[in-house]
Amino acid sequence: MKSKDAILRGMPISPGIAINKVFAFNRYKLPTRINKEELNVDKEMLKLQRAFDEAKKDLETIRKHIGDMLGDDYSAILDAQLLFLEDEELHKAIYKLIEEKKMTAEMAFRTVLKNYLISIEKQTNSNYLRERAMDFRDIGMRVVDKLGGILTSNIKDAKNKIVVANDVSTTELLNLAQEGIVGIILASGGQTSHTSIVAKALEIPMVIQVKGITELIKSGMTAIIDGKDGIVVLNPSEKTKRQFEKKHKDYIDELNDLKGIVDLDAITVDGAKIDLVANIEMPLEVDIALHNGAKGIGLYRTEFLYLEKGFPPTIEEMYNDYSSVVKKMSPNSVIIRTIDLGADKLLHDIYYGKEQNPFLGWRGIRICLEKELIFREQLIAILKASLDGEVKIMLPMVSNIEEVIKAKEIIEDVKKEINYPKDRYVDVGIMIEVPSAALMSDKLAPLVDFFSIGSNDLTQYTLAVDRGNHKVNYIYDSLHPSVLKLIQMTVENAHKNNIWVGVCGEMAGDPYAIPILLGLGVDELSMTPISIPVAKKIIRNLSLSEAKILANKALNHRNGKEIRTDIDKEIEEKFISLKNIFNIGRINHDNDK
Ligand code: PEP
Ligand code: MG
Repeated sequence: MKSKDAILRGMPISPGIAINKVFAFNRYKLPTRINKEELNVDKEMLKLQRAFDEAKKDLETIRKHIGDMLGDDYSAILDAQLLFLEDEELHKAIYKLIEEKKMTAEMAFRTVLKNYLISIEKQTNSNYLRERAMDFRDIGMRVVDKLGGILTSNIKDAKNKIVVANDVSTTELLNLAQEGIVGIILASGGQTSHTSIVAKALEIPMVIQVKGITELIKSGMTAIIDGKDGIVVLNPSEKTKRQFEKKHKDYIDELNDLKGIVDLDAITVDGAKIDLVANIEMPLEVDIALHNGAKGIGLYRTEFLYLEKGFPPTIEEMYNDYSSVVKKMSPNSVIIRTIDLGADKLLHDIYYGKEQNPFLGWRGIRICLEKELIFREQLIAILKASLDGEVKIMLPMVSNIEEVIKAKEIIEDVKKEINYPKDRYVDVGIMIEVPSAALMSDKLAPLVDFFSIGSNDLTQYTLAVDRGNHKVNYIYDSLHPSVLKLIQMTVENAHKNNIWVGVCGEMAGDPYAIPILLGLGVDELSMTPISIPVAKKIIRNLSLSEAKILANKALNHRNGKEIRTDIDKEIEEKFISLKNIFNIGRINHDNDK
């Protein structure tokens, strides 16, 4: 039979191969085009009313929850949105378009909303109105979702399928993962976006930046996803399926081989021991971390409980999650990072409007210090969980000394408030992920118990390259010597002040970066759990003295490509047996092509 294979290429994110039917995840469907003659006005009106009712119900639940937790001041934030839904003028305007212009409910709603937003935003002198426009945009998206977006019940159809979408948010991925999807292909997406990080953590094969994929697929079509090499095949022939089935088997064999070293230490041939720990986003990943031999959690990202619910969780909900992780990992330690909301992780009630430069804006510790109540509640949950095992607190997005001093004061105050036992000490560390923090690491080190280098953001901010924007992806390279120089400076200042330093960005699990980070003196590597066995195998074949030579050379190179070429030479000459391993974990770089 003639082959019907349509082969597409993208960026490999999460390894693994799946052959299955696709599921088109289309959140914001374009308005359905219906022949004017065919349009049933009553049906469209009913659809609209139902969407408004559902959106209102959602808002009321959120409002009540916020009110219970934070008081009426906070819940009032949603009042404007509720009023919007009840606005008679708005209803009339939409109905008019449906009735007179024979528009669908979606189209009529979008048209009225757009005009409404334009008229408000024109009044640029009024901050109040501009903020209200944001509220309306939010509620607008909620209604559009109800009208034309995918319904939660549709997500159930994703079971055992390969999801295809333009992009998905992290919470959407989590919901889809719960349904048991077997792969995910995105038309856009970023290498170190949180969605990509979570897909890896959940071991779901993922390929991103596959141009045109959403236009090419139809739900029900069969596809192959190869998350190791970034290949997508649509309508594969039987022959192609067999080829990929074989490749899948080889990959699994290789992984099983690696599992043999899970219980061994990560120790170099000349006796230097490195701590290999895991990055997690939610408790269910602890088992994956343990299976892969993690000796602790080096980064527990805590935003997802907030994002999943759409508002801050209760202290009890947080405590339950944290405590279950802490107990399972005991006696090893768990570094709980306080919320790093903002930028791409927005939350309704601490959302103050569209920012020109969200990654340079209201994010991480900046939000916590201003929304102190939310910060304090999380600290209570963390401190309570610290009594169940070994916990360290980590502050994200630190860019100056004052933030650390203030955050530490709040931590001490919360301890007093909850009568935290005086004989218990909880380490407080900071992420070094903003160049200013690396450059000021000599002054920051005396204030904290450890540093953890967030190489994803450090790369983004050092090279001024949006980590999620594929247009500039070719510039994004954590092995750029400028990033390495900041890491070197951070490590030196940490050690001078007798504190340890880890790396918890994606580069910690990149085989090409591991020898360099070791050579620069990093004490701990924290990575997505499935990368741990590969990292361990590399470390166990490497000597610290060789790593130091490589790191020194790397600091003098002109770009990341030259550094990777050095390492490739090293592999060919000394570690040919590791070649496959390097391929498994390799992070592809546009600028190496
Ligand atoms: C980082 O920036 O490297 C990091 C680990 O934090 P996140 O990816 O959560 O921003
Ligand atoms: Mg970061």
